[in-house]
Amino acid sequence: MARIVILGAAESGVGAAILAQKEGFDVFVSDKGSIQNKYKALLDSHGLPWEEHQHTEGLILNANEVIKSPGIPEDAPMVLKIKERRIPIVSEIEFASRYTDARMIGITGSNGKTTTTSLIYHILRSAGFDVGLAGNIGRSLALQVAEKPHDWYVIELSSFQLDGMYTFRANVAVLLNITPDHLDRYDNCMQHYVDAKMRILRNQQPDDCFIYWAQDDHVGRELAKYDVESRVCAFSDTEGPGFDAFPTDGTLHITAPVLFEMPLAELSLPGRHNLRNSMAAAMAALAAGVAPADVRRGLSDFPGVEHRLEKVCDVDGVHYVNDSKATNVDACRWALESMTTPVVLILGGTDKGNDYNDIKALVAEKCRALVYLGADNGKLHRFFDEMGLPVADTHSMADCVEACARLACPGDTVLLSPCCASFDLFKNMADRGRQFKALVRARLETSAPNTATQS
Ligand code: ADP
Repeated sequence: MARIVILGAAESGVGAAILAQKEGFDVFVSDKGSIQNKYKALLDSHGLPWEEHQHTEGLILNANEVIKSPGIPEDAPMVLKIKERRIPIVSEIEFASRYTDARMIGITGSNGKTTTTSLIYHILRSAGFDVGLAGNIGRSLALQVAEKPHDWYVIELSSFQLDGMYTFRANVAVLLNITPDHLDRYDNCMQHYVDAKMRILRNQQPDDCFIYWAQDDHVGRELAKYDVESRVCAFSDTEGPGFDAFPTDGTLHITAPVLFEMPLAELSLPGRHNLRNSMAAAMAALAAGVAPADVRRGLSDFPGVEHRLEKVCDVDGVHYVNDSKATNVDACRWALESMTTPVVLILGGTDKGNDYNDIKALVAEKCRALVYLGADNGKLHRFFDEMGLPVADTHSMADCVEACARLACPGDTVLLSPCCASFDLFKNMADRGRQFKALVRARLETSAPNTATQS
């Protein structure tokens, strides 16, 4: 019996183990760290052998194939030993795709993956497609293939997942953008990272579709190096020759893969970056065969993704928006650009060497006040105080929300888009966003009934 060893026992690894067992392999699961109790229970309920806190060579190097979690680097000692023995290493998505005829929509890029993947999934699901959500978000593709197969999968693909993919074929592939990221895992070489992203094109055939952003610095140039068989569709920030989707005169126009139009004002996601994500999602859904009317509805009633410009509610006439995922200056810039009211901006946390000059002009143009939220707000004081805006210095979410309510006027937006990581005061960015939402909603419950509306 062929032996499959799985390195890393979280969502993707445990799903892969269950599918491999179902397909008749001798399976072993090994994790160098600790395995969460829910995954131990799942492995035990299937009678699957596992180990944690170690990799036992004798149980691993006799594998015919290894499925590696995308989180484990290529130069981890055990991975190097597996490579020395020339044992093939694949990703969970690659493995799972061998056991399904489902059609695949794969989304990659440096930014916007989760938003675009969730939007495409929403459009297909609302249009009545039998569709699963997988990859970096949702449940493991392998587990879905093993237990509850779908006709379609919408899969968020990181470069690490793409590294372990060889025969996977995306019927619809979306490449949103390529900007430097994770270069430490690519020998600090941008081209290696670009090559990983371009792997999404592999195995595409003439009736498949490849969708990309025309203004990207890399993708257009890279495409010339590939013998692309699929239909190529480009979305663009502006109208121009060769662009298949673009905004003009308040309307989103798409000419391929299917003719489509809708007013920009109807798009549910705000901001220029989200217009790109909406164009990509519309083209992908149209390529999958969703009717234009269903695409339009899905783009306009998408509720958004948690912690990404997420509307919380209105309290005393003030809009509260949770953009806790904005852990760098660039993300905050996108958020500020999309604001249409005066803003009380919450900034701060663990600084990653931020250069706030990138948002200084936008802060001057859009902000009524700034609320600093961090263990140490010194850098924020040194940079922003001289702008002369009202500022508040806070060190807990409760004090922060209190200060925001005091500084905001009816019609303003309180925006949590902090430019920083959250680890100084919170478990992670999701914890920060949830604490913000909980405290804002608590204010809603105690505010005057006529001025409070849930959105
Ligand atoms: P990812 O899953 O790739 O990290 P998300 O959808 O979670 O992407 O968005 C993360 C952040 O990336 C957003 O808060 C926004 O600032 C930025 N972003 C989203 N879409 C785009 C885009 N198309 N181009 C550039 N930046 C984007």
